[in-house]
Amino acid sequence: MAIADNLSSVLEDIQECRIRHGVEHPVDLLAVSKTKPYEDVMAAYEAGQRLFGESYAQEACAKIDTCRRDGIRDITWFFIGPLQSNKTRPVAERFDWVMSCDREKILRRLNEQRPAMMRPLNVCLQVNISGEEQKSGAALSEAADLAAVAAGLPHLCLRGLMGIALDTRDQEILRNEFSALADLFRQLRQQYPSMDTLSMGMTADMEAAIAAGSTQVRIGTRIFGARSRPD
Ligand SMILES: *Cc1c(COP(=O)(O)O)cnc(C)c1O
Repeated sequence: MAIADNLSSVLEDIQECRIRHGVEHPVDLLAVSKTKPYEDVMAAYEAGQRLFGESYAQEACAKIDTCRRDGIRDITWFFIGPLQSNKTRPVAERFDWVMSCDREKILRRLNEQRPAMMRPLNVCLQVNISGEEQKSGAALSEAADLAAVAAGLPHLCLRGLMGIALDTRDQEILRNEFSALADLFRQLRQQYPSMDTLSMGMTADMEAAIAAGSTQVRIGTRIFGARSRPD
């Protein structure tokens, strides 16, 4: 199916999920274009999509630079992949948001490397809600300390939390993991009112995430098709 059709079907589903679960706030759609060519980003853009998520710094920066060369300035770019601390600079210099901040060192680097001429970099703390050791993300118990660090850095703006659930169809597991993140989000935002983003839900678990209070789903496969290389 064409990218434009996939996009409208995802948008429709998001609205249906909101209605089914009585969700009153909007749920944004991040189109995850990692590993996909620039032409695919443009197809989604022409269909009206403006929020894009990327995971690989080099590939993403090339796409962002091409967009700017083409005069496209109204895309908001979200970095959602794991970040090594020696590879933060191009991300700090180009992206609007970094969703995968999971340790103090990354926050401090991004803050130092964010050009002073640019708006503060929006950041979300990635929390490891599935408890799998190989997954990135801070522990739930570390998030409050990280939030305090992020909130104190002048070139960052603390916007919220991101979580990736276990890859499972077990609805109860999904519900528990997403609820744990939603609880943490509600708790932290009382202290940090700039927090407005709870990013959870992907192609396979979007409905459970929306039911638990997600404000942003990150959808790749359902919009752009299966990826030819693994994450
Ligand atoms: C790849 C990726 C997604 C999109 O996953 P799909 O299952 O293709 O929708 C969402 N979030 C993160 C962090 C990702 O790396």
